[in-house]
Amino acid sequence: MRIGHLPLGLLLIVSLCLPPLGSAAEEEVNVYSARKENLIKPLLDRFTEETGIQVNLVTGKADALLKRLQSEGKNSPADLLITTDAGRLHRAKASGVTQATRLPGDDERMAGMFRDPEGHWYGLSLRARPILYVRDKVAPAELSTYEALADPQWKKRICIRSSDNIYNQSLVASMIAADGSEKVEAWAKGFVGNFARPPRGGDRDQIKAAAAGVCDIAIANTYYFAAMIDSKDQAQRAAAAKLRVFWPDQAGRGTHVNISGAAVTHSARNRDNAIRLIMFLLNDESQQWYADINGEYPVRPDIPVNPTLEGWGNFRMDTLNLDRLGELNPDAVRLMDRAGWK
Ligand code: FE
Repeated sequence: MRIGHLPLGLLLIVSLCLPPLGSAAEEEVNVYSARKENLIKPLLDRFTEETGIQVNLVTGKADALLKRLQSEGKNSPADLLITTDAGRLHRAKASGVTQATRLPGDDERMAGMFRDPEGHWYGLSLRARPILYVRDKVAPAELSTYEALADPQWKKRICIRSSDNIYNQSLVASMIAADGSEKVEAWAKGFVGNFARPPRGGDRDQIKAAAAGVCDIAIANTYYFAAMIDSKDQAQRAAAAKLRVFWPDQAGRGTHVNISGAAVTHSARNRDNAIRLIMFLLNDESQQWYADINGEYPVRPDIPVNPTLEGWGNFRMDTLNLDRLGELNPDAVRLMDRAGWK
């Protein structure tokens, strides 16, 4: 029906229902964030200061936020999802709650491996998942690759969290990409056989357990270790001081890395503002602040890393496109299950 044929009264109602051009509604962006509020709010405030765009922030647990997006569907008020792990971002994309976007003029700033090839998500910060060893019990010369942690010499010496955790799923997915499922399944059986205890707790708990003598090796993300090293809590600092970072596979494909990232939602009504916010989070100042405050590496290689991370030295990272972690996630989950990784 052409608008010219509508009776005047109906036209009036229609026009009253439409938001006026340039309304306040255009100057906002709704963010669902799995990062804790105090870790991201100051940056969002800076964004509002600079652009005048109001940021409405909802924080929650990563998996709960994804479920919420899925159940809200097209009616979701969210414009941008900020969450951790490429495996999770892939899951969001696969469940249809994200959309492809292009960042204007950003192609040079971030390596291709840190973004979805179709533009559904973009990395904001980088973390690695190295081997942490108790310095009194393990010599770095004894360590080499993730694969070698299945060797009998590590019997009852390894602490790692459960297989339902996305970080471990992504690590195993990266190994499948390198070695193939068959080899990794055999590895996983040996690796699980070397656990010092049934998996429990988060990454920090593995570090604490190693410091307490439960195991000699802990697998954990770098920012947890950095947070413990720089903790205000003396017990955490003391525990962290007993361990050192070993970068696995430096003669091969490199250490497994992952990202936190952002995805514009399928339902976004403030799409352009969401893209502006991603661009803002990738600018020099944000990259530095965001990485420092979270104890992470900037996703842009031209931004300096914080002194704690710098102290661990440079490392070669596995340059697998992180999208593959999501694609291989179901294989990784099944394989870990078959290997008896609780
Ligand atoms: Fe984490």
